Amino acid sequence: MLKVGATIGILGGGQLARMLALAAAPLGLKCHVYSPDADSCAFDVVHAQTVADFEDEAALARFAKSVDVVTYEFENVPAKTAAFLSERVRVLPDPHVLETTQDRLVEKNFLAGLNIATAPYAPVHSATQLADGVAKVGLPAVLKTRRFGYDGKGQAKIERAEDANEAWRSLHGVPCVLEGFVRFQREVSVIAARAEDGTVECFELTENEHRDHILYISRVPVKASDTLAVEARRVATQIVNAFNYVGVMGVEMFVVRARGQEHVLVNEVAPRVHNSGHWTIDGATVSQFEQHIRAVAGWPLAKPKRLGKRVEMINLIGDEVLDQARWLATPNTALHIYGKGKPSPRRKMGHVTRVWPAR
Ligand code: AMP
Repeated sequence: MLKVGATIGILGGGQLARMLALAAAPLGLKCHVYSPDADSCAFDVVHAQTVADFEDEAALARFAKSVDVVTYEFENVPAKTAAFLSERVRVLPDPHVLETTQDRLVEKNFLAGLNIATAPYAPVHSATQLADGVAKVGLPAVLKTRRFGYDGKGQAKIERAEDANEAWRSLHGVPCVLEGFVRFQREVSVIAARAEDGTVECFELTENEHRDHILYISRVPVKASDTLAVEARRVATQIVNAFNYVGVMGVEMFVVRARGQEHVLVNEVAPRVHNSGHWTIDGATVSQFEQHIRAVAGWPLAKPKRLGKRVEMINLIGDEVLDQARWLATPNTALHIYGKGKPSPRRKMGHVTRVWPAR
């Protein structure tokens, strides 16, 4: 258990690291952010910072010495970096999780091994294998690179068999996975926290609306049967337990209707705090960021409860962040600007959370 005054090292310096550091401060914990980018927006709010590449072993060794535990805000931490740090300091969640979550195929096989439903999928490492994959999962389908995809990057939709080769070429022949296109009713996520002692606390099921492949709005509560909410929570709990996970994880799911009932299919697992959990900062008794800090500090988790009868989080993407006057004048609305400087298209620049009071 970390003592008050201890320092948490965070790999990555974006808005997630920034919000983690903002949640650590009231608990009396300090954060040291390590990022290759000198303009990292997390640097505005941290106790210490290192600007160095993830391959810089001298800088990593100094960082490891200066912190009491290391965590990360993104899943693409290079395996070598995580291994180097693990030899010197506790890294949480344990980096073995990254081997699974950095690769869509390995992740899907892992979920299948737990008997957790996903979209039908097939590995694709050549144009021939793509044709076999199309035969297996059917059309339409989505071809996704196994690694480094996000916000719709590294994806190509295939509507007709004759589009398959073009999709394969557009992703430059890197290893892929083909997924059947899911005609979902909606998208939801569960943000689960797991403590060192195995306690799991899930935030309530959240509904997510995407625009142009980027998360746009998250809403709670979700109009869902209790059975669906229980199933979603059970799936998320099973995943964090299988990893012996410590920290917060985001589990993205599709809701589908089968045999007259709603079920979830897992789309993706994020071994970190997640955009669809940002509403918890202003809309719950504990935020996902505080839960993550508590977990990696070896502290007990809080029991999350929503504040207000409904909560909505809206991402401010690109120029939308310039609309601050409107949001400042909107009642019961919390504005979060990430301090990333000049807006660029498709970049998450901030978010707002609207809380509808219970009375
Ligand atoms: P991902 O990068 O896998 O999280 O995908 C981003 C978004 O694309 C998802 O949130 C969905 O809206 C959509 N999407 C991804 N995969 C599928 C699929 N197999 N079927 C339908 N929609 C998908």
